[in-house]
Amino acid sequence: NQEILLKAYPVGTPTVDTFSIREAATPALPAGGVVLKLLWLSVDPYMRGRMSDAKSYAAPFKPGEPVYSGGVAEVIESDNPKLPVGALVMGMMNWARVQAHSGADLTVLDPAQGWGTKLSPSLALGALGMPGFTAWVGLNIHGRPKEGETIVVSAATGAVGSMVCQLAKRKGLRVVGVAGGAEKCAYAVETLGCDACVDHLDPDLKKNLAAACPNGVDIYFENVAGATLAAVMPLMNFFSRIPLCGMISQYNAMTGGGEGPDRSAALWRAILVNRIAVRGFIVFDHAEKQGEFLKEVAPLVASGEIKTRETVSEGLEKAPEAFLSLLKGTNFGKAIVKVA
Ligand code: NDP
Repeated sequence: NQEILLKAYPVGTPTVDTFSIREAATPALPAGGVVLKLLWLSVDPYMRGRMSDAKSYAAPFKPGEPVYSGGVAEVIESDNPKLPVGALVMGMMNWARVQAHSGADLTVLDPAQGWGTKLSPSLALGALGMPGFTAWVGLNIHGRPKEGETIVVSAATGAVGSMVCQLAKRKGLRVVGVAGGAEKCAYAVETLGCDACVDHLDPDLKKNLAAACPNGVDIYFENVAGATLAAVMPLMNFFSRIPLCGMISQYNAMTGGGEGPDRSAALWRAILVNRIAVRGFIVFDHAEKQGEFLKEVAPLVASGEIKTRETVSEGLEKAPEAFLSLLKGTNFGKAIVKVA
């Protein structure tokens, strides 16, 4: 057995040396719990926030202890009749090949619903899991989309963004993606159905985004902040909305301590003058809507009407690199680790 630990809280950009791998004992079956064999792991940007003890909505990882994230596993020993041996389960799991688990908050992926046949279990960590639900919540509840409006989606080809683009297109919006590089932009238009996609690595980002949004912007689905936010703000319409989902371009910088130039006055002014509703949201505050999301979106994913794309890294030992790829933009679609 093996497990991956966080060595210490990184300042600035984490590297593979932020993590270490060690041999671990085979765990004993806990009373009322299960022993899991990890099959799939999710790596997600919010995990950067856990590598710091700054106040947040999620508890920090503990240095010297295993890293954990969303996973899919097979139950290999059980003292819980609701989680029988052989069941496929999804929930928060340690980065360990085999692990004891209390069983709390594990969801069984029922084969009768297509899991393991029509639906790859990895989708429970992406399009039909936390990222897909985040897209649905941010767009529908906080974006309040209306047919004919223009939405800009940053990190448009990623796990969350790719779902926002496709769901918004189905609601009749003009969808403008922002992504890093020509290949991702082509995918956003050709596969995700965006009306346009602008490359944020292009020095003409501001001009290109303005050209792609001739009627201004009614919804900005914010995943990245930084240069993309600066390019979108001048285009925001009166009474527009910003579901503030993430700000990945700043996650490493925020641990550096130093302060950059203060642009808050211009930002506040744009929010005031345009009466923009900016709403920070965290997906787990909306758990009561999960059933509605799955009822609507699972059939569209199973039929292929909604497209999904994954970057799969093979092997538990690849999990740190897979996580780091999110902060560099080298993942294309949902970043997943296939453990077994
Ligand atoms: P993605 O699959 O979108 O992967 C991250 C992507 O972010 C990269 O591929 C890259 O895309 C982009 N990126 C990375 N660094 C930068 C940078 N410096 N500038 C601009 N873009 C950058 O990740 P997710 O879909 O899982 O997450 C997207 C966002 O949603 C994150 O901010 C995350 O924290 C947030 N989130 C929030 C939740 C909530 O409840 N509020 C829940 C889940 C996610 P590209 O190559 O196109 O630049």
